[in-house]
Amino acid sequence: MKRVKIGSVVLELVQGNIANQPEMEAVVNAANAMLASGGGVAGAIHSAAGPGLYEECRPLAPIRPGQAVITGAHGLPNRYVIHTLGPVYGKDKPEDKILAECYRNSLKLAEEKRIASLAFPAISTGIFGYPVRDAARVALNTVIAMAPQLKYVQKIRFVLYSDSDLKAHEEALEALMNTP
Ligand code: ADP
Repeated sequence: MKRVKIGSVVLELVQGNIANQPEMEAVVNAANAMLASGGGVAGAIHSAAGPGLYEECRPLAPIRPGQAVITGAHGLPNRYVIHTLGPVYGKDKPEDKILAECYRNSLKLAEEKRIASLAFPAISTGIFGYPVRDAARVALNTVIAMAPQLKYVQKIRFVLYSDSDLKAHEEALEALMNTP
């Protein structure tokens, strides 16, 4: 676990399950274009949320890479779920720009809804094949760049599934914080 402050915004890196973050107002789903269940993050979120989540998602689909949409959280212990579609590595290019859009558009929606705390998974680093070190740098860089403009979001948590993914994010954060 690692915690830093960027202005008034707290940025945390933790190991855990994105579907079990009860103290966060919103969680982000690494969604598929159809906003359906599936493997990884989307599977965990939809099975914890129950069928009402897909009912609400269905009319919002399909979404394009980089886009984000918001729904209620249904059976999850949060208020909202923000669904964003990451780039498929090697297919949706430029991957880094699209991945950055996922984080930016999710934060924009959170600000519109006046959400105070938001948890992200490592978007695109599972089934979509984005190398985790590169994705961590893009994700953290984007969030750090946006932090000074945030009025409502005061806590951003990255929830990493594996110990090695947590380490990759800790190292990327350290490198970014040491860059003037
Ligand atoms: P994508 O299709 O965007 O690659 P995935 O859900 O396949 O999304 O994976 C994204 C990342 O989330 C991967 O690093 C994966 O290990 C991790 N992950 C899988 N399940 C969970 C979960 N329940 N909570 C947090 N992270 C998860």
